[in-house]
Amino acid sequence: MRFPGRRTLCCSFCGKSERDVAKLAAGPGGIHICDGCVDACRLFMSGEAALPRDFKPANWPTERLLDVLGPLNATAEGHRRHLGDVVDTLRARDISWARIAERLGVSRQTAWERFGS
Ligand SMILES: [Zn+2]
Repeated sequence: MRFPGRRTLCCSFCGKSERDVAKLAAGPGGIHICDGCVDACRLFMSGEAALPRDFKPANWPTERLLDVLGPLNATAEGHRRHLGDVVDTLRARDISWARIAERLGVSRQTAWERFGS
C-alpha cells in the first residue's frame, strides 16, 4: 500500500521495499521486518536452516543498496530517538549518569554530552 508523501519503508534485514513484500512489520526505533525474513528467522531459530545470504548487503544488487539508503538513514534516526527516549525515561527515574554511561559503554561525560543537554 502506498501513502502519498510518505517515505517507502524497507525491511531492515533484506532491504526489500514494502512494495516487494507481502507484509512488513514495524519494530522499535524504525526497524522493519518482512514476511519472508520472519519465515527465514523462524527456520533459523528452529534449527532447520542457516540464515539466508539475503541478509548480507554484499549480496544485494546495486539498485537495492541505493534504494535502502534513505530508509536505513531513517531507521538510524529512529534508533537515535528511541535511545534518547530510553535515556530520558531512565533519567526521569533518577538513574545516575554514571549507571547509564556504564551500560552505554561510554564515559559519564560522553553520556551527559550526548543525551543530557
Ligand atoms: Zn526482509
